[in-house]
Amino acid sequence: MFKRIVSVILEHGSCSWGKCYFCGWGKRRVECSLDELKGRIFNLLGSKRREGEIDLLKVFSSGSFLDPKQFPDDFVSWFIRLCESFGVRELIVESRPEYITEDRLNLLSSGRVKVTVAIGLELADDDILLNYYCKGLRVDDILNAIKVLRGHGFGVRLYLLVNGHPYLYSNPEIHKRVFEDSIKLALDLADSVVVINAYPHVGSKLWEDWINGSWRPFDEEEFRRFVGEWGMHPKVELDFNNLNFIPKFPREKQIFLHGVGRDYLVHPYYEVWQDYIVRFYKPPKSKDIALFLPCAYRKPYTRSKTWKAILNAIYSLPIFPRIHLIAVSSPGVIPYEFINYYPFQSYDWPEWLETEEIKREYIEVTKFRVKNYLVRHASNYKIFYAYFRYGAETLTAIIEAFKDLGLSDKLRVVIDEGLAMDIEAEGFKPMVAHPKALSKLREMLSEAISHLD
Ligand code: SF4
Repeated sequence: MFKRIVSVILEHGSCSWGKCYFCGWGKRRVECSLDELKGRIFNLLGSKRREGEIDLLKVFSSGSFLDPKQFPDDFVSWFIRLCESFGVRELIVESRPEYITEDRLNLLSSGRVKVTVAIGLELADDDILLNYYCKGLRVDDILNAIKVLRGHGFGVRLYLLVNGHPYLYSNPEIHKRVFEDSIKLALDLADSVVVINAYPHVGSKLWEDWINGSWRPFDEEEFRRFVGEWGMHPKVELDFNNLNFIPKFPREKQIFLHGVGRDYLVHPYYEVWQDYIVRFYKPPKSKDIALFLPCAYRKPYTRSKTWKAILNAIYSLPIFPRIHLIAVSSPGVIPYEFINYYPFQSYDWPEWLETEEIKREYIEVTKFRVKNYLVRHASNYKIFYAYFRYGAETLTAIIEAFKDLGLSDKLRVVIDEGLAMDIEAEGFKPMVAHPKALSKLREMLSEAISHLD
């Protein structure tokens, strides 16, 4: 039967522990008064209630709902009475085990709302909990808390977190064995089990590991393979991509990447983005024509004269909504959706400093990145256009990538030698902003329809 689930983020103060290896939320402190929080929750639940019955309310609180420092007694009592008055049938809150005490459970007890407490068991192995995940607790602490919960008639939900440390990532057999033991135990103990895929939270140590290349998140295929048949168990829920993960860089780590050379070409920030774009990103299904474009000095690119000229030339084409703009530059392959994200608006590759050697390296790295993009996403597109200065290293890399993958028949290069010579003769720069080049682009894209459907 359809269950109406409402999720709320209820943040106040900070997690009393805050040291879990993989967690960035636990390090945040949310300054807001309890009265303010009450007002916000009252309005939110009120509006949800007006839309329909609330069968299940899930509360996420970056810490512990049962920690009296985070949520004092009177707030907990007020909250459960609010749930009762809004007709909530079932409530799930989160807590570390040390706060699951008789007193706190008494406050949260209700004759009308079924209450479940979710606990992060993560992986049921003391060595991992203490020395890798840095949870500051043992499996026994969780077992004891579960006894208290059951003694009070509360439900139990357990979170398992996989791939939350480079040690596990680089020791797949140990990882798998511990996971198997953990899920068996969790299924014995809990009413429901959520298996969570670890992501690089900003502010966590795992984020640093991701940047320095010692760890990377499982993509969907890896995650599902790892979880295996457990994912089909009726008590198990899979949380592959919580909050739609996108690479994020805290302000203090954001630097302007200005320069030419290997350090700027394969900078770790670019590398993690390329990994994300290949393994996690899904190009929009409605855009089946790929148009590869050069970068521009002005960022984001759409502010540059070149991109403005290109967009002006093509946006009125009936086929425009089907065109996926993809920049290819020193940071790699950059789908249009990300051009405003750091570091794609904070870099500069001064071409005049390029040596022959770095040009060769640029072609190799760019070819590799374009190939990776094509291997994963080529099936999204029916045809590809490359709009670059004739002879540009990026264009060479794209042509070679298509050739290596046997896809050359799908690629259309807009500015050919003849057109380039014509434009050069006029001494016009940049070539891609020349009216003749733009009109050829428009013409070729208009004809794209004949290659589609
Ligand atoms: S995982 Fe939970 S206990 Fe650990 S730091 Fe984050 S919020 Fe705190």
